[in-house]
Amino acid sequence: MLKKCSRCGLSKPLQMYHKRKDSTDGRQWQCKQCASEYQRQLYAKRKKKQARQQQQIEQQKAILHFEQQQYSYYYECPGCSFEGDQGQCPRCVNTTMTLAKRMAI
Ligand SMILES: [Zn+2]
Ligand SMILES: [Zn+2]
Repeated sequence: MLKKCSRCGLSKPLQMYHKRKDSTDGRQWQCKQCASEYQRQLYAKRKKKQARQQQQIEQQKAILHFEQQQYSYYYECPGCSFEGDQGQCPRCVNTTMTLAKRMAI
């Protein structure tokens, strides 16, 4: 008995179709060849998506890296504008310096 594949339109014997319990003839609507081709396309699609996501991550990393190179970070006292590399201002007691950044030379 031949069954026409809904995907490639070719008539093929039933054993060329994967079993499927919930269909009337117990077989899939597409032949094994089309099914595996479909799986392959699905896989390629997924791969492509993953590659694109990876690319975005790399891009963000590159931007971040660029920013880190562009700026130098330092601490600035909100009270006396003293600049230093520590969190506490040596001039003002109990004043926490805030982290600031400026363009690196
Ligand atoms: Zn087919
Ligand atoms: Zn200060």
